Amino acid sequence: MQKGMDCHIHTFYQRCGNETLSVPNIIRRAEALGLRKIAITDHLRYNKDKLEAFHYIKSDIDAVETDIEVFFGVELDYMECDGDFFYSREIHEDIGFEVVIGGIHQDYTDSQDISEVTEIQHRHFMKTLTNPLLDVLVHPFWFNKGAVEKRAPEFWEKLIVSVPDEMITEMAEASAENRCAIEVNSHAVFWHSGYTDKFKHGYVEFLNRLKEKGALFATGSDAHDINYIGHSYYAEGILHGLNVPKSQIWWPQKGE
Ligand SMILES: [Zn+2]
Ligand SMILES: [Zn+2]
Repeated sequence: MQKGMDCHIHTFYQRCGNETLSVPNIIRRAEALGLRKIAITDHLRYNKDKLEAFHYIKSDIDAVETDIEVFFGVELDYMECDGDFFYSREIHEDIGFEVVIGGIHQDYTDSQDISEVTEIQHRHFMKTLTNPLLDVLVHPFWFNKGAVEKRAPEFWEKLIVSVPDEMITEMAEASAENRCAIEVNSHAVFWHSGYTDKFKHGYVEFLNRLKEKGALFATGSDAHDINYIGHSYYAEGILHGLNVPKSQIWWPQKGE
C-alpha cells in the first residue's frame, strides 16, 4: 500500500486552523514527516467574501519549492439540511481548486432514534458521493461535540455498528463508480474526545464493511494545528491493517 497522503489540512488564512498553519509551515512540516502528497483544504461555507483568501493560499503554494505534491483544495459544507454546497463549476474553475472534499457537518435533528439520525447522514453521504465536483466525502459519522453530547455514548456505539447493509453497499458502490473517496479522518474520528474506544472499534468495522464492498478511501488528518499534520499516517495504518488493496486507495495525480 502506498503511504504518505494527508488530503485534509486547514490554514490560518481563513482562520480554519490556528496561527501555526501558514502554507510554508505546512509544507516544511509535511516534508519533515515524509509525506508525499498533501492537500490544503480550508472551509468554504456561505460567504462569498471568503473566496478572496483562497487566492492567497494558492499563490503561497506556488511560491514554495518542494518535492512533495501539494494540492490546492477546499472543504465544502451543506448550507442547510438537504441543501446545497456553496459551490458551482464556475467557482471551481475560477479559483482553480485541484482537490474538493466535503460533506455533512451537522446532525440536523434532536432525535434519539438511531435510524433517523443515520438516515439523514446517509442521504447527505450519497448526495456528496454522486456530486461530480467532489473528490472526497469527509469524515462520515463525525459529529461536533454538541451533537455527540446530546446522546449517550451507547447511542453512538450502537449506531456505528448498525448501519444497514444496503447503505454500506450504496456508499461503497457510489464511491467506486464516481471515483469519490470516503475519507478516513484521524483527527475528527480517532482523536475525538467525545467518542469512546468502543465506538472507535466499531468505526474500524464500519470501514471494513465498506472495503468489502469495494469503496475507495482517502486519508486525512484534518489538522487545525501544525502538530496534527501527518496524523493521516494513523488512518493509513488502519487501512493497512484491514488489507485494503492499492486499487481502493485514492492517490490523486496532478493535472487530473
Ligand atoms: Zn469537516
Ligand atoms: Zn476539515
